[in-house]
Amino acid sequence: MTHLHILADQTVALPDAPYQALHFIDGVAQGSADGQVSERISPSHGVVVSRAALGSERETDAAIKAARAAFDDGRWSRLSGKARATVLTKVADLIEANVEKLALLETLESGKPIAQARGECGGAADLWRYAASLARTSHGDSHNTLGEDILAVVLKEPIGVVSIITPWNFPFWILSQKLPFALAAGCTCVVKPSEMTPSTTSMLAEFLMAAGLPAGVCNIVLGYGDPVGSMMSTHPDVDMVTFTGSTAVGKLITKCAGETLKKVALELGGKNPQVIFPNCDLEGAADAVTFGIYFNVGQCCNSSSRIIVHEDIVDDFVARVVALSRQVRFGNPLHEDTQVGAIVTPEHVVRIDGYVHDAVAAGAELCLGGGALDVPGLGRQFFQPTVLRGVTPDMAIAREEVFGPVLVVLTFRTLDEAIALCNDATYGLSAGIWCDDVHTCLDFSRRAAAGTIWTNTWMDGFPEVSFGGVKQSGQGREIGQYGFDEFLEVKSLVMRIGRTRAPWVKTA
Ligand code: NAD
Repeated sequence: MTHLHILADQTVALPDAPYQALHFIDGVAQGSADGQVSERISPSHGVVVSRAALGSERETDAAIKAARAAFDDGRWSRLSGKARATVLTKVADLIEANVEKLALLETLESGKPIAQARGECGGAADLWRYAASLARTSHGDSHNTLGEDILAVVLKEPIGVVSIITPWNFPFWILSQKLPFALAAGCTCVVKPSEMTPSTTSMLAEFLMAAGLPAGVCNIVLGYGDPVGSMMSTHPDVDMVTFTGSTAVGKLITKCAGETLKKVALELGGKNPQVIFPNCDLEGAADAVTFGIYFNVGQCCNSSSRIIVHEDIVDDFVARVVALSRQVRFGNPLHEDTQVGAIVTPEHVVRIDGYVHDAVAAGAELCLGGGALDVPGLGRQFFQPTVLRGVTPDMAIAREEVFGPVLVVLTFRTLDEAIALCNDATYGLSAGIWCDDVHTCLDFSRRAAAGTIWTNTWMDGFPEVSFGGVKQSGQGREIGQYGFDEFLEVKSLVMRIGRTRAPWVKTA
């Protein structure tokens, strides 16, 4: 607990009043018919950040019907790629022009540092621009070698009405990994953000309107998983559900969507390992491990929450990570220099604490941290940077997603052992290796069961490079060409040239 780098004062002012977040249905920003609202209390500052309309089945049904009508009459799906790209690019410009407003709300609703929130909201504009480029370059295939009297083409068409359900940890970023790609494909959408972080999604409605997106093409309903999210997963007018969140809710959505055979794309949890070999850039690896576990207070599907370190260097490596952990700037998210902010809810602090407590009771050794962190003037909805070694692969803390700033250290002797430990998981989102031998890196990359492999880096990402998981980390891909293709349906068209078809009926 002692000798941590804690920033308590703040350099960015709190807003004067809570943000009023509204639904956006058929082009109209509106409250709920029954007047219900929910309040979000800031995890870091304890003030009411937003009052959000709380949707019911009535708003959800209206939003889905608006999206269905907008899709079926072709007001968006039959526009040229150029016309769609023009709107998406304007939205990107408006996002960039409003980064400060978005970032402040994102910080106060989620607890993440203001500098990080600016990076995510500003960076999201690039996802909109990239999706705009895909709208213009989308194409199918042609088959010109089927015989001189046959030509076949494979068309790509928008899949239809898409439900988009997002979590609280990267509200605007994850929204932007999905929505512009669905819109670029020509789909119409119903979006539900997490009930804990509704505001930046609600604010996006202003930009969509100003950019000229036709009414009904994107609808936003605020509220809880039940009834809003569950209706978005079961309604017969919805063709696809794309969801980012917990594995438990992902499974529930898959089950519900199965009733009407909707396509389902899922981005779920992870327990992502980094393997550390002695012959690597140990300084770079220690920094990447520190980043990988504390970024977003470890509340990140991609958090590298377990490291698998070669036995020969484990003492030295753990000492490096502990020393760096003390340097990371924890504390007030409204301080410009803060790198790690608050935990999303008080209940989640208790949950993280429970994992650490149980691991220590089972024999794990606490090298750093291990409990809530008191930030002067802001209270205890923060958690200390925590490193545990002496952890065995069967402990819950080594297998389950803790979703906090808690790193566990496992050890290995051979590459085979390291890969076996990596793959001994129900999750398979991402995995990394630090090693200067390219052959070892390649062997690892092919044998590790994960949707993304990083060699000698961690969490580098690009709109062009698709992202997603294997095993219980999800299905389908997001961003990149493959992410875009998720929103497209394939239609085959076979054409005969001339009256060359041989009759099937043998006439007398
Ligand atoms: P969550 O599953 O509790 O909630 C996610 C969303 O689902 C919210 O909008 C919620 O209201 C909604 N929801 C809840 N119940 C529902 C239901 N029955 N039907 C439909 N929707 C429902 O997840 P969370 O706590 O918001 O986010 C944390 C989880 O998200 C972690 O497990 C994390 O790993 C995962 N995550 C994954 C990725 C990825 O890309 N793989 C990215 C970020 C977060």
